[in-house]
Amino acid sequence: QCQTPDDVLRVISEKGIVFIDLKFSDPFGQWQHLTIPAHEFSAESFENGIPFDGSSIRGWKGIQESDMLLIPDPKSAFIDPFIEEPTISLVCDVEDPITREAYNRDPRQIAKKAIEFLKSTGIGDIAFFGPEAEFFIFDDIKFSNGPNHSYYEIDSVEGWWNTGREEMPNLGYKTPYKRGYFPVPPLDKMSAIRRDMVKTLEEVGITVEREHHEVGTAGQGEINFRFADLVTTGDNVLKYKYVLRNVGFKHGKYVTFLPKPIAGDNGTGMHIHFSIWKGGENMFAGDQYAGLSEIALYAIGGIIKHGKAIAAFTNPTTNSYHRLVPGFEAPVRLAYSARNRSAAIRIPMGSASPKAKRIEVRFPDASSNPYLAFVALLMAAIDGIENKIHPGEPLDKDIYSLSPEELANVPETPASLQEAIDALKADMDFLLKGGVMDEDFIQMWIETKQEEVDAIRLVPHPKEFELYYDI
Ligand code: GLN
Ligand code: MG
Ligand code: MG
Ligand code: MG
Repeated sequence: QCQTPDDVLRVISEKGIVFIDLKFSDPFGQWQHLTIPAHEFSAESFENGIPFDGSSIRGWKGIQESDMLLIPDPKSAFIDPFIEEPTISLVCDVEDPITREAYNRDPRQIAKKAIEFLKSTGIGDIAFFGPEAEFFIFDDIKFSNGPNHSYYEIDSVEGWWNTGREEMPNLGYKTPYKRGYFPVPPLDKMSAIRRDMVKTLEEVGITVEREHHEVGTAGQGEINFRFADLVTTGDNVLKYKYVLRNVGFKHGKYVTFLPKPIAGDNGTGMHIHFSIWKGGENMFAGDQYAGLSEIALYAIGGIIKHGKAIAAFTNPTTNSYHRLVPGFEAPVRLAYSARNRSAAIRIPMGSASPKAKRIEVRFPDASSNPYLAFVALLMAAIDGIENKIHPGEPLDKDIYSLSPEELANVPETPASLQEAIDALKADMDFLLKGGVMDEDFIQMWIETKQEEVDAIRLVPHPKEFELYYDI
């Protein structure tokens, strides 16, 4: 674990490092990289940064002002296990080369500003995040279009993905529908790949707590790693996706974080566990409902109040909204509960220790940019705390089975990306506080997401052939 530029330079010389791979997150949470030979890298690279052309990054600068700087973070250094020659990877912040200010559209800089803002409010000095990013492992996906075809065929060694289909007796150790979580091998055919993922994650400095098959039949899995502060956890999620995709690829498989790849089966969530601490004390622990503090209840109130706008960041793809439907352990209502996995916010009761007290926000998915997903949640929580927004009574019932009357006053999660963007347009002030996000950034986000919604609107959906072809 490096702390300073000198530490990194020492590793470079001691380990005979040949390449420096500079990685940074684009606005949508995809890692981008550029590689430089070790002889081009020095202490000055940390000071002066490495210039690059930001104009080809979606959502970033126009061609007329495309020069930007990458500033490597020494604490993020890891030996890259997927590059054959000895290579050190460094996660970078992005700066404007002239003003040397943080680039306002760099999600990692936004994350840093959010923590500074948290400190300035006096509410806390650190926020911990623990995400559970699920994923599917596929062999291959073939797309087909037309009236007599499925939308796509997904090859999977687990085979039985085509839910609801009548099957012969299960002679092939196929994963039974809705029973992927979590029989031993040979029903679990992904266990060796997941263990390989775990080993590689630990090699690159991520402490893994457990791994398991998930409910989804076609090789859905989940690997949980240790919580950390906001920026570190943002880095870790992108590192996690990088490792999982590359380990899968090495095994000839394709890992995807698409929220709902298969109609009729469980989707892929990224539940986010979250607490705010001050002076080494957990501000979310107390003597209110489920061992929460009043502050934690207000934080929940803020998240519920701004839930639809938050979703524009935590559930930022059109596909995200195929997941937020009843019946698949994904939340459909913005409610909270200690017991209830159908509520948007659950309070885990597994440990009695105040240190472990936290809230689990269940609507986010892994198509989000983790930095921005965490920032949106934190900013909504701060808003709830500052304005003492009480979340009302908890909903300790199975929400899927409640009647419309019983649910009359319980807000829903958005039904579409369009609804989430529209909510964000009307409700962005909580994100602008302290200059954490600015209007330029949110405007870019709304425009880009609107383009995605429109792109999907232009394409006839295969299901329409089934419903309307003969009309
Ligand atoms: N896959 C479910 C979701 O979409 C979660 C399942 C679980 O972790 N219990 O959120
Ligand atoms: Mg889990
Ligand atoms: Mg899970
Ligand atoms: Mg969970």
